[in-house]
Amino acid sequence: MNISNLNISCSFCEKKQNDVDKIIAGNKVYICNKCINLFKKILNSHSNKEKIKITLKPIDIKKKLDSYIIGQKNTKKILSVTIYNHYKLINKLKKKQKLEYKNNILLIGPTGSGKTLLAKTISKIMDIPFIIADATTLTEAGYVGEDVENILYRLLLKCDFNIKKAENGIIFIDEIDKISRKRNNPSITRDVSGEGVQQSLLKIIEGTISHVLPQGGRKHPHKEFIQIDTSNILFICSGTFDGINKIIKNRINHSQIGFIKNKKFKSKNTEIKTEDLIEFGLIPEFIGRLQIFSKLKKLNKKDLFKILIKPKNSIIDQYKFLFKLENIKLTFKKKALKKIADKAFKKQIGARGLKNILENILIDTMYKIPSQKNIKEIIIDKSVVSKKTKPIIIKNT
Ligand code: ADP
Repeated sequence: MNISNLNISCSFCEKKQNDVDKIIAGNKVYICNKCINLFKKILNSHSNKEKIKITLKPIDIKKKLDSYIIGQKNTKKILSVTIYNHYKLINKLKKKQKLEYKNNILLIGPTGSGKTLLAKTISKIMDIPFIIADATTLTEAGYVGEDVENILYRLLLKCDFNIKKAENGIIFIDEIDKISRKRNNPSITRDVSGEGVQQSLLKIIEGTISHVLPQGGRKHPHKEFIQIDTSNILFICSGTFDGINKIIKNRINHSQIGFIKNKKFKSKNTEIKTEDLIEFGLIPEFIGRLQIFSKLKKLNKKDLFKILIKPKNSIIDQYKFLFKLENIKLTFKKKALKKIADKAFKKQIGARGLKNILENILIDTMYKIPSQKNIKEIIIDKSVVSKKTKPIIIKNT
């Protein structure tokens, strides 16, 4: 029915068609877009009572993580326990009660070792609202860049403005090592990218009532705010902390005495201590808010090989699926996979190199094949990876 010429109004707020953006007609009733939004909010506020249901025990969480993430056994264990305990405690809180302490986490490890993937996967497994923020885009309030409160806005957005749900979410802050204090550079009068940002993050990490604009963006005295309490939000900070091993080594060398002084630096001693992070450039108050440290290992060639094929919906499975949509079987020889892992290892960017290598190998084939008929199978062997030969094409007989 064309209702544009009828003089109709919303059955709920009685606003006329011209006063609103849209009116939807039902059986002798009409509803405007404003009322729809209002009712959505009312429904959301009902679900505010929802808690994050914890159905899995730490051992089960770790098992689930195992099917997506290769290696990093210790970090998986630490995350499973810490997140399980966090939500157990939150669920025990009475109305308006806040956590007295929380174990925010610091993940330290090389690029492409799985820091982001771990945090993202555990949130998915446990159905916890999750967002990723990049510390390098953050600035102190008043400077050009993203305000710290904007992170909260994005979490709210993720939760469809269900405030309670957002207040129980997880915020992952990547590249936290890049906002370290630059003490060795006296030319910087105001350390916009370093200490100031750590100071701005302190409060929301520890727990505060933050004021977030419903539309995001910069604060303005005449705009209305949404209040969000960050006391129960779990923060996972992450960074590569290049050079931290040298700092640890120096600390240990200094503390060694007499006959053991010249002994080789043992890897089992490489546990990170608060003082190493301070030496690196994090301010003590900031580190004080991160109670759990976990160091991820650099992935070796074997790990990279496993990452290609083992995880659920692995990278190779994803490509196989794409070819299956064209009714073509995609086969990788084992030696080809090993060669891909070797190549990725040389790139020194962990598992991040794998995707790029595969894309390079398959791009021509993916470009031409959809226009060709009668192809049954494509085989990738080692020499294709070394760029000596083209993929083997087997046609239907
Ligand atoms: P980081 O945050 O440590 O730099 P990411 O977690 O972003 O690294 O990893 C990039 C990609 O590499 C992931 O999306 C995933 O495909 C793959 N990856 C990295 N580490 C692992 C791992 N341990 N197990 C499985 N896949 C991994």
